[in-house]
Amino acid sequence: MPTPSKETKHFLIRFVQNKWLIFRRVIYMDLRSGFPYSLLQYGIIASYPSLQQNIATDVAIIGGGISGALTAWYLSQAGFDVVVVDRRHIGMGSTAASTSLLQYEIDVPLYELINKIGEKNATRSYHLCREAIHIMASLAHKLRVKDGFRTKSSFQFASFLKHQTNLQKEFSLRKKIGFRVQWLDEKDIRDRYGFRKPGGILSADGAEADAYLLTHALLQKSIGRGLKVFDHTEITRISHHKRGIELITNNRKKISARKLIIACGYESQRYIPKKVQDLNSTYAIVSEPGPKKELWYKNSLIWETKDPYLYLRTTADNRIIVGGKDVPSSDPRKRDELIPSKAKALELAFKQLFPAIPFRTDFKWAGSFASTKDGLPYIGSIRQRPHTSFALGLGGNGITFSIIAARIIRDNLMGKRNPDAGLFSFER
Ligand SMILES: Cc1cc2nc3c(=O)[nH]c(=O)nc-3n(C[C@H](O)[C@H](O)[C@H](O)COP(=O)(O)OP(=O)(O)OC[C@H]3O[C@@H](n4cnc5c(N)ncnc54)[C@H](O)[C@@H]3O)c2cc1C
Repeated sequence: MPTPSKETKHFLIRFVQNKWLIFRRVIYMDLRSGFPYSLLQYGIIASYPSLQQNIATDVAIIGGGISGALTAWYLSQAGFDVVVVDRRHIGMGSTAASTSLLQYEIDVPLYELINKIGEKNATRSYHLCREAIHIMASLAHKLRVKDGFRTKSSFQFASFLKHQTNLQKEFSLRKKIGFRVQWLDEKDIRDRYGFRKPGGILSADGAEADAYLLTHALLQKSIGRGLKVFDHTEITRISHHKRGIELITNNRKKISARKLIIACGYESQRYIPKKVQDLNSTYAIVSEPGPKKELWYKNSLIWETKDPYLYLRTTADNRIIVGGKDVPSSDPRKRDELIPSKAKALELAFKQLFPAIPFRTDFKWAGSFASTKDGLPYIGSIRQRPHTSFALGLGGNGITFSIIAARIIRDNLMGKRNPDAGLFSFER
């Protein structure tokens, strides 16, 4: 056989390298871009080593975002020997891009969710999300994370007069099931917020958090209980055995575990044979800091009924975060090309609501996010992957779902029946 020339060899190497890059782009997502506020504000909070030796553990968690960190927290608290690995730096997936509003209102309003999954299950899902906010409050208190969490009321207004009837229906339903809600009419809204909208629901149970800060705090505290965390450690192969799992990393190290948790956020889809998520792109901006004062009623979280909706909140350093302008595409190139125009549109939308509040965009960013058929996350196991559970914080309010996921998985692994697990199962 003739030996290939130097040029042919180089061509073949480049060909294989390009194919590999294309393949990686397909299986791994470019989750975010631009300058997310949390990342700039808090930078490198803590560093973790990459895995350089074979190890064995009770539970391996793939994914060091807020979902992996919460699961690690609960499992290490329950006495499990836990290892967390992430292919990026810790928290640098979707978690770093999050605007971190904590709301019990999922992407599907209660009256619609009732039609999809029945009154009992819909009501329970809303109650669980509200509970999750209170659980996060007590966790943040325990972790003593300055700026990590603040309780806030949340105001949702009807974007148009034609949305008012459904919003009022939503209000009555929430009141009936015991939520602390108040209806604001046009005059109330003008008095408290200064803008003109036909009506809206003011909810007492909401919060603003910092998912990136909380992720590191949860992991750091859990390291004190024996948790091991490795970043820049990519899992390239998962083998399911009779008694457990074997993971192979990008540098050919082996992790043997009795149980595996997949907490890879929107990159988890490739481990699941059926399609569970639709991907979209979303945008956010943060203003330059202003004077410390109440800009609108209790500086509450604000959002609206329009789809996609605009949402806003203030920050601990007196900035304003505005997000929304979603597009139904996850192509990172298209998403990033739109950052300048989407940022302008978000700033304009803010100025239309609050013409008297000065707003100059300081930073802008974009991220992918996933939605599901009923707005609820997928938590639990699938037949094809024994000894494995998924903790997927999918949806616009993914952080509250991450809390629910971590607790259900903790109960499963402890052999306790969790009565709510069925709500989020893959078989629903
Ligand atoms: C712009 C934006 C705004 C948002 N705003 C809100 C909001 O206001 N409120 C809210 O509740 N939610 C919000 N979300 C959603 C929220 O950020 C997500 O639900 C949450 O961050 C998901 O966390 P996660 O830990 O599941 O995923 P991630 O943070 O993405 O973590 C998953 C990790 O898995 C790692 N990984 C993947 N594959 C592998 C592998 N093979 N080996 C090793 N590691 C791997 C990744 O590197 C990644 O770090 C927002 C999202 C975006 C993009």
